Amino acid sequence: MADPRKLSINQATTRAQWSLEQAIKGYARHDVRGIAVWRDKFAECGKAKAAALLKDHGMRVTGLCRGGMFPGTDPAQRQAAIDDNKRAVDEAVAIGAECLALVVGGLPGASKNIGDARKQVRDGIAAMLPYARAAKMPVAIEPLHPMYAADRACVNTMGQALDLCDELGPGLGVAVDVYHVWWDPELERQIARAGRRILAFHICDWLVPTRDLLLDRGMMGDGVIDIAKIRGWVEAAGYRGFHEVEIFSAENWWKRDPDEVVKTCIARSIEFA
Ligand code: ZN
Repeated sequence: MADPRKLSINQATTRAQWSLEQAIKGYARHDVRGIAVWRDKFAECGKAKAAALLKDHGMRVTGLCRGGMFPGTDPAQRQAAIDDNKRAVDEAVAIGAECLALVVGGLPGASKNIGDARKQVRDGIAAMLPYARAAKMPVAIEPLHPMYAADRACVNTMGQALDLCDELGPGLGVAVDVYHVWWDPELERQIARAGRRILAFHICDWLVPTRDLLLDRGMMGDGVIDIAKIRGWVEAAGYRGFHEVEIFSAENWWKRDPDEVVKTCIARSIEFA
């Protein structure tokens, strides 16, 4: 059973209903001690106010979402992405985030060259990593399910993400999101390989059928992922951090009373995670 004191909620889970201020207050009201923050909501709230609200409510910030999106059609576009990732590092530092999560990006423009996109991702991370290291902000590559390879992330497995970590060195780790990696026959082995490089653990469920590639994630217990088993592997690898509920659900959870959503996250994470 997951420890309820280590529950975090990614604010994407209530993004349709709540601002950052409302999410911080709402999660705290239900005694949830962790939150992952999105940059658009952070910008809307303002840096000083966001930092003060998080501190006043004693929230651990389990991640800032997100950096990444490195591939570009020309050098100027790629440099703009690197600059934006540096700003994301600054924002993560401002709110004391435990890591900056990277959604690395897919194929630029009309490209059909996924190998080159992956090289651009490698080069982009290599270019921003010294800045993150200097700021002491850990950077978490989040491998995304291969259905997103074209438009969101061409790093699709834990093995691929860890190869980048091996190559690029300290300051870089992985975010393990069960939604993206549950299907991977290598998963147990790659989680063990990751060890202390696991910087975040994201939970939700894979619905059958899934009706939307992006916005139809399920609440824990409503789908086919053995979340508790994966959590066991992650903990066996040495991870002691929070488990972060992250649910994009346009037609279901985003339409519900957000207090009900939070209560359900708590109950389901105890039962199924
Ligand atoms: Zn995630």
